[in-house]
Amino acid sequence: TRLRPSSKRCAVIGGSGFLGRHLVERLVDKGYTVTVFDIRQSYTIPGVTFHQGDLCDKQALLKALQDVLLVFHCASPAPGSDDRALFHRVNIDGTRTVIEACQEAGVQRLVLTSSASVVFEGTDIKNGKEDLPYAKKPIDYYTETKIQQEKLVLNACSKERGFLTVAIRPHGIFGPRDPQLVPILVDTARRGKMKFIIGDGSNLVDFTFVENVVHGHILAAECLKAESPLCGQAYHITNDEPVRF
Ligand code: NAD
Repeated sequence: TRLRPSSKRCAVIGGSGFLGRHLVERLVDKGYTVTVFDIRQSYTIPGVTFHQGDLCDKQALLKALQDVLLVFHCASPAPGSDDRALFHRVNIDGTRTVIEACQEAGVQRLVLTSSASVVFEGTDIKNGKEDLPYAKKPIDYYTETKIQQEKLVLNACSKERGFLTVAIRPHGIFGPRDPQLVPILVDTARRGKMKFIIGDGSNLVDFTFVENVVHGHILAAECLKAESPLCGQAYHITNDEPVRF
């Protein structure tokens, strides 16, 4: 006899990445059984199963999603790349494939890592809320594909089909093992290239501690039920007091 899949069984697509690994570690701490799906394996954790594959490959995804009811999608090509075809293939076509694979595998909840940049048009936003429209002129092609990706995931939300979706929109993420943000800032400063100020020095930018971003993802997943207002919604996330949980 086959056991009913447990609601504590989940998969993290992009689980080898900076955010993904923190998410995996926290999920394991919370008693989840975790499967990682990623094009690379960057670590091992006892009890975590790794499936190496491309999220554009539906068959590979279907193998990894067997008996999985909850999926986190936090895979993306590096934002700094200028490979437009890659962004299109992974963030748009690939996300469509992720949605189809989830639906075919019987996944009930999909949590997407989006980006706050989906509402940014180059002018200041302070205390921006989720009712801001998507940027008409996104700042780069990465962001353009993040907008399309978020729309695909949120539009796929269907209470009738029992497939619920939500998106979390962080801006900059910092924390242990950050491969990009802080190391690049420090390196640029060391090379003496941060001696200029754009504007009058009062510009603000939003950074969120990685564990808070993880906390937001897990809260979203655990609150995503047919009767909940989260269904098909996107949420900005930022730091208030760093939350230890
Ligand atoms: P990361 O590069 O550390 O991790 C991304 C992971 O996705 C990598 O492990 C990579 O191997 C995997 N991946 C890429 N293409 C894949 C494919 N085709 N199939 C399977 N796996 C693939 O990035 P991160 O900083 O952890 O970002 C995670 C998510 O958060 C992304 O969706 C990103 O857009 C979003 N985000 C990040 C930041 C930030 O400051 N780091 C800010 C806003 C949004």
